[in-house]
Amino acid sequence: MRKVALVFVLAVFVPSLILAWLAVRSLRDQQFILERQQSLLYQGLADAFARDVDNYLIQQQHEFGLQVEALLAKRKAQELAPEFDEVIRKAWPLAEIGFVVSLNGKVLAPPLNGRVECLQFRLENDKFLANAESAEVYWSNGKATANALQTDNNANVRQALPWNNKDVSSSLPAQQAQSQAANGDNQSSFQNYFNSQRGNTAKRSVSPQSQMALPQQKGTVDESEQFSKIAVAEAEFRQLIGNDNEGTMARFLQNKLNVMTWYRSQSDPKLVFGTQLNLPQLVNGLNDLAHELDPTRITDVCIVILNDTAKPVVRSKPDFTTTNWKHPYAATEIGEALPHWEVAVYLLNPGKVESAANTLKVTLGFFILLLVFAIGMGSWLIVTDLNRQLATARQKTDFVSNVSHELKTPLTSIRMFSELLAEGRVTDMAKQQSYLNIITAETARLTRLINNVLDFSRMERGEKKYHFEKCNLLEVVQEAVDNFRPHLEENQFALNCEWPENPLYVQGDRDALAQIIVNLLSNAEKYSGANKVITVTASLERLPLPFAEVRILDRGIGVPRGCGEKIFEQFFRAHDSLSSGIQGSGLGLTLARQIARAHGGEVVYEPREGGGSCFILRLPLAAKEV
Ligand code: ADP
Repeated sequence: MRKVALVFVLAVFVPSLILAWLAVRSLRDQQFILERQQSLLYQGLADAFARDVDNYLIQQQHEFGLQVEALLAKRKAQELAPEFDEVIRKAWPLAEIGFVVSLNGKVLAPPLNGRVECLQFRLENDKFLANAESAEVYWSNGKATANALQTDNNANVRQALPWNNKDVSSSLPAQQAQSQAANGDNQSSFQNYFNSQRGNTAKRSVSPQSQMALPQQKGTVDESEQFSKIAVAEAEFRQLIGNDNEGTMARFLQNKLNVMTWYRSQSDPKLVFGTQLNLPQLVNGLNDLAHELDPTRITDVCIVILNDTAKPVVRSKPDFTTTNWKHPYAATEIGEALPHWEVAVYLLNPGKVESAANTLKVTLGFFILLLVFAIGMGSWLIVTDLNRQLATARQKTDFVSNVSHELKTPLTSIRMFSELLAEGRVTDMAKQQSYLNIITAETARLTRLINNVLDFSRMERGEKKYHFEKCNLLEVVQEAVDNFRPHLEENQFALNCEWPENPLYVQGDRDALAQIIVNLLSNAEKYSGANKVITVTASLERLPLPFAEVRILDRGIGVPRGCGEKIFEQFFRAHDSLSSGIQGSGLGLTLARQIARAHGGEVVYEPREGGGSCFILRLPLAAKEV
């Protein structure tokens, strides 16, 4: 038994507990997994829209080139230059101020005596455009996309910088050109130049929540995500143009963003036509772009373009608002053309993932509990069954020794008294009679025992046959009691009977019913001790339905408390032979109950008031009697 229990614990219980523990651990990570999936999804959305915005800006850059070409088709470049500001503003709504610079650094437009804005523009930009002063600019020549900016910023800026093109010496400061020639390594020296120029430590205007990486680091933002990846370079206008035909650059002047796009026509490459973009117009265009987004992909979020001060300028859902624009769920920087502008994604219902994760947790937790409970129940059932089987095995062993003993005792008496009689040594007639009575009683006892054992084995095999017939139960009981009476009286028992006036007809097997009565009477005799009074009553009871009832009562040792039902189990003995000295097989009551149940009735035990036992046989009445 211990071995089985040990194997069970090691092979089933411990692995199940380990599995349950692992499942509970994985439950804790559910929310993180869901959040991670969502974060990847929305970061992807932000990246994609930032790419769209960047492409839109490139489109506008090309559009400007087309506008300039269209104007040049009508007029010569030199003629167009002085009036370019006015002409381009009329032709293209995105143009705020048109300017023209010659490659040798002469600013031809806008005129100094024109609009106030133009004068302001000239004051702020003349030195930079005339290559007299270098300025901090964000630079994009329109070839790169925002995606490239996010993934490999350096590569992008390398590509964007003019000195990455073949003929670079003209656009480099003299010193740089010399050092390039000296070490012969164009790429790295330019890159060094660039790296020395770029200030890449500016903080981003927003701190997205989705960068909160692993669960153990929850609440802390990945440091590298706090800094902008957009590079600023210090250069003169001529340096930035290099040999390119078109490009866009951005500058912050008095904290205000100025975006300029420029174009150099093949027809007159010495003149650079440019315009400062009208930001409100540009934002309008971006607004249209946001409304073209696939609504099915952004049902749970609002996509917003934030300017460099983290103010929303474009929203995919115009009604959306939040108190904390600086903490979007995910965000991507747009690029050099709009430095420190971000595409940000805000959750419309921030608690949704948490509640989805909680629902998942509760459901999985419930199933784990159910599983553990099932394992526990299963284990308990197995252990109980093992115990029962063990108890039955023990009872069977006891049964064999009990039956052998029960067989031996009457056989010894029968043999002894029959030998005495056979030898003719007992001459006294009364004694002879008494010996014969003993032999008869012991034979009856043997017969009862053997009948019980045989019937039990028949029942076990399902072979017990009953011959049901309508019979008077009262008659069967009286007959059995009368057969037993001499034996009881001989042993100084007082037997009281109370019979009803009318017969009690039942549908039954007379012999089997008699066997119940004999077993109960025999028990009353065995367990009576010194108080030798047995009462047998029969009656017709009417509640809840009419039935016949036979009671066999004694004033003996009674059934110990808590054993009232167990005594009906096979081989169970409440008073074992060793301690009580009473022989028995533990089968009498089992058989009595099985026979009664086969007749649709029952045998039950009730403790008797004043001491002793009361066994009750209840049987349904035969059909006509009801
Ligand atoms: P046994 O052969 O041991 O008597 P039974 O199945 O007839 O087997 O009875 C089962 C157990 O019920 C007995 O061992 C005894 O402990 C208890 N029992 C039966 N009848 C009585 C009774 N009249 N008074 C007290 N105990 C009884």
